[in-house]
Amino acid sequence: MKVLVVGNGGREHAIAKKLLESTRIKQVFCVPGNGGTATTKGCQNLSLNIDDFQGIERFVMVNNIGLVIVGPELPLSLGIADYFQQRKMMIFGPTKAGAQIESSKSWAKELMLEAGIPTPKAAVFTDAEAAKAYVLEQGTPIVIKADGLASGKGVTVATTVKMAHSAINTIFRGEFGTDNIRVVVEEFLTGQEVSILALTDGITVEPLLPAQDHKAIGEGDKGANTGGMGAYAPAPIVTPELMERIQEEILEPTLAALQKRKIDYRGVLYAGLMITPEGEPTVLEFNCRFGDPETQAVLSLLETPLEDLVLACCQQRLGEYSIRWKSGASVCVVLASGGYPGSYQKGKVITGIEEAEAKGAEVFHAGTQLKQQQLVSDGGRVLGVTAAGETLEQAISKAYAAVDCIQFEGVYCRRDIGRRALDDKN
Ligand code: AMP
Repeated sequence: MKVLVVGNGGREHAIAKKLLESTRIKQVFCVPGNGGTATTKGCQNLSLNIDDFQGIERFVMVNNIGLVIVGPELPLSLGIADYFQQRKMMIFGPTKAGAQIESSKSWAKELMLEAGIPTPKAAVFTDAEAAKAYVLEQGTPIVIKADGLASGKGVTVATTVKMAHSAINTIFRGEFGTDNIRVVVEEFLTGQEVSILALTDGITVEPLLPAQDHKAIGEGDKGANTGGMGAYAPAPIVTPELMERIQEEILEPTLAALQKRKIDYRGVLYAGLMITPEGEPTVLEFNCRFGDPETQAVLSLLETPLEDLVLACCQQRLGEYSIRWKSGASVCVVLASGGYPGSYQKGKVITGIEEAEAKGAEVFHAGTQLKQQQLVSDGGRVLGVTAAGETLEQAISKAYAAVDCIQFEGVYCRRDIGRRALDDKN
């Protein structure tokens, strides 16, 4: 079978490589892909835009591709799954209606409240002054969220009223879109965040291994938020008992609420949870796709062939599977361009990837490009160095031994990915 993967990040490189582990998968095409998918045996990049549904459809038809897997949220929110389903083509990812769970925080909040899913108290405003008055009434800290897709930049955890008001002004200035502007003002929660990526065929929902990512740029989870500086799985804070509660109190009721709205959701349902100090799992957000970089860590431990699970979701046969995992733990350390998440330079020559892989790690490319046969940096997050081990300690030391082999001008990574779990254990 031939598969087409939509996207150009580390997540898509990890998906492509995982698929190619199976003898059933002959070739993976990536739209548009990156320097890693360009150089992976069995992979080929296509220079099409991710929102060029017609162009992708033509390629799929002419080349007899059996399955399309969508990585990022944008094409899902634009209706790529609807487009391919209408043409009777196999596509993994929810329809536009289902993708609202990520593309509209107010829609997701309403669905959660209706279904009794634990989530922080919030109010939705279409007017800046009313939102600001609510902030004054509630006090700080408080969380201000732009309603639509904002590439991870739409959320401000405001510690002062001034900060909250300024975030509200930014949203109503149209920074994250000018159509139907809304803001969600949410109660601030403390605790530990976990990412639960679950597969669903619209009938059953099966969680993957729980993961934790490190969003902040600085060690000790300090500084500006990024797309994610690293991740590890499984997250020990999610005990089997807690996972059972997450299944019963969050995943299943969410799927039921989607069904009630006549939404046939087939793809990844990703719950971003806060585990409060009282141990209560609470939903901060839902995403409608695989997380990045959690996917890199999670897929490296997956034993059941990925294409089996993805096809089972598309064909509503997920109930036939009990997902098998390798033992141990996995860590993904992101190597970023100096200056990220602020401004940074691109085009820096990258060396040492073969040496890193010789240490037993897998290097997934995120922002890279092949330029005149040379691999150069092409984004803020450049590489995700991923290693598995029998224990989390082993995975961490293997990953960093590999990280130390890689060089490019200005390279930056956090040195404490996964440490939080070890500290908790001790
Ligand atoms: P979201 O996109 O809604 O997950 O928000 C991005 C990040 O903002 C989360 O990963 C949290 O670190 C933080 N955040 C969001 N909502 C809250 C909340 N209610 N309380 C505390 N932190 C939050």
